[in-house]
Amino acid sequence: MNSVDTIELENRFCANNYSPLPVVLVQGEGVWATDENGTRYLDMMSAYSAVSHGHVHPRIRQAAVAQIDKISVVSRAFYSQPLGTFLEELSRVTGFSGALPMNSGAEAVETAIKAARRWGYRVKGIEANRAEIVVADNNFHGRTSTIVGFSSEPSYKADFGPFCDGFKQARFGDIASFRDAITERTCAVLIEPIQGEAGIRVPPAGFLRELRKLCDETNTLLILDEIQSGLGRTGKWFAFEHEEIRPDALILGKALGGGIMPVSAFVAGREILDQFDPGSHGSTFGGNPLAAAIGLEALKVLDEEGLIENSARLGDHLKSRLQGFNYPAIQEVRGRGLWVGIELNRPAKPYCEALLREGVLTRETHENVLRVAPPLCITLDELEWGLTCIERVFNQLR
Ligand SMILES: *Cc1c(COP(=O)(O)O)cnc(C)c1O
Repeated sequence: MNSVDTIELENRFCANNYSPLPVVLVQGEGVWATDENGTRYLDMMSAYSAVSHGHVHPRIRQAAVAQIDKISVVSRAFYSQPLGTFLEELSRVTGFSGALPMNSGAEAVETAIKAARRWGYRVKGIEANRAEIVVADNNFHGRTSTIVGFSSEPSYKADFGPFCDGFKQARFGDIASFRDAITERTCAVLIEPIQGEAGIRVPPAGFLRELRKLCDETNTLLILDEIQSGLGRTGKWFAFEHEEIRPDALILGKALGGGIMPVSAFVAGREILDQFDPGSHGSTFGGNPLAAAIGLEALKVLDEEGLIENSARLGDHLKSRLQGFNYPAIQEVRGRGLWVGIELNRPAKPYCEALLREGVLTRETHENVLRVAPPLCITLDELEWGLTCIERVFNQLR
């Protein structure tokens, strides 16, 4: 099948809820992806950070194949291997005592919402059905009807109501706005430490530390959604480490699946996790043996292959190289680790289309931000190659 046929077939039978760039990817290896005609592209998108380990990582692939040959799905009606080992490793790297495994990021966010509310009623003593969760404006936490209900983005919510009560918005990065939003009915603040889909927005220095203090003073849980920012993307295991704070709970997904399958988790201390009892929550596929084997290997690879150090080192290089670019279209370059947004004063999509022609994959976020987020295993030479392409595109579109 040629790529025109492939694209037409997908357009004909698939819901039109994305507008993909016109390339058909059929094979991946590390930071590279190949299309139907054998053309290679440098992946600077990493599937929104789900492919932080690179495509078809040999060790993660091997762990997956070995587990498929044993057993893949049992449901949590029974014990299985290696779920306990995976969660023990997750506990080691996060410093939390346990986790509730799920599949997609949105499911793990839903898990966090349920946990926070139960904690609010059963520990904090909030009046029945009155608990509130404070979120940030311009947040992105997934696509369920509950989650889009507390988004501020019209395109996420149009004609999907009625929405769920119990959420309040504050201004991202503005501590006074959070102080105003929190009341005795607030069970949690749920926030991305760096907002990904909003355009890789880094809050002012000290904001997370002040938010931590505010949550302590008001007996409110601080829950961080690190589905995109976590697992080395910002040059540390977790973005909260940049401000030397600890949240009360953490939501992980994307890279936890090692670029192979969806694996997510709600990670917390026992006093929060123990709000769940048999029957109160679940997922048929959550924590299945295949997901656990992949998640375990994904964590080990990050550690043992130095991917997080690489993200810190090459991320600094990436940001300073981009900040040295001098083009009238560029308004700001920001980010942490191998996660950089180039804010333009015009739509970013034409830049993505031109980059595709040069052999670089990426997409805009929030209309006018060009996302640069390669797999964390990228080398300096590969990064420089990508930067040359970006430079060429800025020259073309002058
Ligand atoms: C991608 C993302 C989600 C949703 O994850 P899905 O796996 O697409 O459901 C939630 N929060 C953040 C911060 C994300 O980047």
